[in-house]
Amino acid sequence: MPNAVLDVERCQPERCDRGICLARIKCPVKALWQEDPYDVPFLSGGRCNGCSVCVLVCPAKAIHMS
Ligand code: SF4
Ligand code: SF4
Repeated sequence: MPNAVLDVERCQPERCDRGICLARIKCPVKALWQEDPYDVPFLSGGRCNGCSVCVLVCPAKAIHMS
């Protein structure tokens, strides 16, 4: 099953409301987290269930499935 992969070079947290990662909010298994708003999030591939929601909601298209 494919996992979400975050491209940190493409991530633009300022494009998310108040700098809070939209993919993090929408991820059903909390596979993404941020230390603080406007930080680039971390992604724990081991938790990912492959639902692709993060890919759809990320405004910067910084996440893909692989
Ligand atoms: S939703 Fe996308 S652009 Fe926004 S912080 Fe998360 S990975 Fe970065
Ligand atoms: S594909 Fe689904 S489970 Fe995996 S990180 Fe994205 S939103 Fe979370």
